[in-house]
Amino acid sequence: MEPIKRQRKESDSVYTIMLIPHKGHEPRSIHFRLSLLKKVGIVCGLLCLLGAGVLFQSSHILYKAHQDQQELLTYRSEKAVQEQKIGQLLQENEAIEKEMAELSKLEEAVRRELGEGAVQPSRSGIDRSQYLGQGGPQAAKVEAVDIYAAQNKVLQEKVKDRKATLNDLLGRLRELNQRKAALPTLWPTNGGTITSYFGGRSDPFGNRSYDWHPGVDIANDYGAPVYASASGTIEEAGWVSGYGRYVRIQHGYGYETAYGHMSKLAVQAGQSVSKGDVIGYVGSSGYSTGPHVHFEVLVNGQTTDPLELVR
Ligand SMILES: [Zn+2]
Repeated sequence: MEPIKRQRKESDSVYTIMLIPHKGHEPRSIHFRLSLLKKVGIVCGLLCLLGAGVLFQSSHILYKAHQDQQELLTYRSEKAVQEQKIGQLLQENEAIEKEMAELSKLEEAVRRELGEGAVQPSRSGIDRSQYLGQGGPQAAKVEAVDIYAAQNKVLQEKVKDRKATLNDLLGRLRELNQRKAALPTLWPTNGGTITSYFGGRSDPFGNRSYDWHPGVDIANDYGAPVYASASGTIEEAGWVSGYGRYVRIQHGYGYETAYGHMSKLAVQAGQSVSKGDVIGYVGSSGYSTGPHVHFEVLVNGQTTDPLELVR
């Protein structure tokens, strides 16, 4: 045991640091053991590690806090932009609502022109009460985006309704126009002179004392164009005994017109014609005393006075 103890004592040597002042003061000396120096070194090292750890930790916390603050700022600015956008969209919705109200007025005006009554209630199957006319104190709790979404849904439904209504009106207008086009209202020649009216008359050839005239005779220049009095389909085009060169047009809605004594025909059976199309030319073919067109109007198969319709 003795040699080991001595060895430890020898390794734990004592060191002296001399401090020698320059101006006549006594020199000072500090004595210390090597083991103490080592202990101080370890303690300093530990303290340094601890300090570095604390520094790292606090800088990390600071960095995180800074990042959080940046994220918060970004979130706030994005939220502000979104709120502004939603505000704009809400205003736009309101503007569209006003336009829709204008459309409703226009629609009513069109209906009045069509001679229709009050606007029918919406045919939409969805329950719109959950969106329509809401508001009041409770609405304040609802997010702006929810209000926008609800308004938008109502608008979409309204647009759908309006589309259906306008399509319906368009259909009625087309039907009305078709009826109008089918009505024989066009004088079949340019001017001319009525030489014989509809109804009873004396026979133009003097063969019989009395004759029933089923149309009007319009004298005009030989070869003057003869026009379709209304739109329709050519039912018959050719030679008919008594009528000479003859055309009969089916207009639909119970209306037909017939044209006789023409010099030449311009249409064939089965062909579609529009009001005012040339169907033939004035002549004197068949039972006729001079160039004229014999013009008949039939309503549900019965001849009627053309002058009641033609203007
Ligand atoms: Zn006639």
